[in-house]
Amino acid sequence: MKHDISGKTKVCGLIGDPVEHTMSPVMHNAAFNELGLDYVYLAFRVRAEELAQAIAGMRALNIRGLNVTIPHKVAVIPFLDELDPLAEKIGAVNTILNDGGFLKGYNTDATGFLKALRDRGFGPAGKRVAILGAGGAARAISFILADSGAELVILNRREELDWAEALARQISDAFGKEVNAFESDAANLKAALDSADIVVNATSVGMSPHSGESPVPAGLLRAGMVIFDIVYNPLKTRLATEAAQAGAETVMGLDMLVGQGALAFEMWTGKQAPVGLMKREAIKMLGGRP
Ligand code: NAP
Repeated sequence: MKHDISGKTKVCGLIGDPVEHTMSPVMHNAAFNELGLDYVYLAFRVRAEELAQAIAGMRALNIRGLNVTIPHKVAVIPFLDELDPLAEKIGAVNTILNDGGFLKGYNTDATGFLKALRDRGFGPAGKRVAILGAGGAARAISFILADSGAELVILNRREELDWAEALARQISDAFGKEVNAFESDAANLKAALDSADIVVNATSVGMSPHSGESPVPAGLLRAGMVIFDIVYNPLKTRLATEAAQAGAETVMGLDMLVGQGALAFEMWTGKQAPVGLMKREAIKMLGGRP
């Protein structure tokens, strides 16, 4: 049942550019309604040059919480009062909590990823993890995996290998453990995947409209490995389909998306998120069957 907006309604939302295709309003508003909370969640398109005003507006309008997406995840940091230690290490924020005008930044992309992995029973401590990609999501995931005691190797395409090398160095420095970065050519992919317990696709390869592509040759997939493809559109990527055919365990990108949303929801409301409902709403929006 939908609740009426009142003079007491608390406002949460998303800032980014673009924001039109976001699934967050559907997930959060369904969750507010389910729990009978007097909250509303809106998407705000904020241009890069207006980010400072947007955050000043968050304070002035007493907006309770914001998610932050591309292109603001790094640029927003100087406007906040405090960072959660993990978000500080990662150097990117995707969730802000406004506590009486004091703004604290978190990275629930990272904690949502870990929640999705752990909820399936795949704790990463002591596990060998191969991460494909070195972009924003790969960065958050690499830091939380290193923080959770995993052994990492990062693979990226040749054109931007220096990104992967820089990420590996930063994690080595932050956690005092060896992390290597390699070009994701056939030989390096095979070597990394043959010895990996968990493989994370943090590239956009396989994302709609290129859903016929996979970042991993099917012949490298095997039973006993966990494949976590963070791409959530399509719901089941080619990589996830071929991994399941090879007998590997799979974790869906949607579970990370729902995980990050659920953790933000809990910070803003202090209530346990209705994760199943949020996932069903996201699946509906992606055109799948709940
Ligand atoms: P990003 O910062 O743009 O990084 C993209 C990464 O993909 C880079 O490492 C890039 O390599 C690599 N890449 C792109 N095209 C490639 C290709 N054809 N071959 C090999 N590598 C390629 O993007 P992002 O924010 O990290 O997001 C990456 C993916 O994760 C997107 O599909 C996004 O939707 C998904 N995602 C999912 C969640 C979730 O909650 N499930 C959260 C965040 C992101 P280069 O460095 O060489 O360009």
